Amino acid sequence: MKNTHVDKDRRTLEAIGHIYCAAHHEGEKDAAGLCPDCRSTIDATLQRATDCPFGHEHNCQDCTVHCQRGEAQERILEIMRYAAPRMMYKHPIMAAGYLRKKLRSKE
Ligand SMILES: [Zn+2]
Repeated sequence: MKNTHVDKDRRTLEAIGHIYCAAHHEGEKDAAGLCPDCRSTIDATLQRATDCPFGHEHNCQDCTVHCQRGEAQERILEIMRYAAPRMMYKHPIMAAGYLRKKLRSKE
């Protein structure tokens, strides 16, 4: 089954990861501009979203499974905290809905 929520999240996360990774990490980058560390963080985050029994429809903060917890979540939040203000400037339409939902739940 195609999960369009995750497809959209993947594009958003890769754009966010590219901003963060370009500023923090040297060395080899993949086609999306991510180093292996950032790529694995994003893939782990997306994998949890794919596994979400609720189809990733709801705010994960309200989710009873808490599939976004763990090391990858810590790292993706660090990436988002850095990249979110820059993302709003570079990709305001793509960033708006996704980041508002994700970051609000962490305040
Ligand atoms: Zn990186």
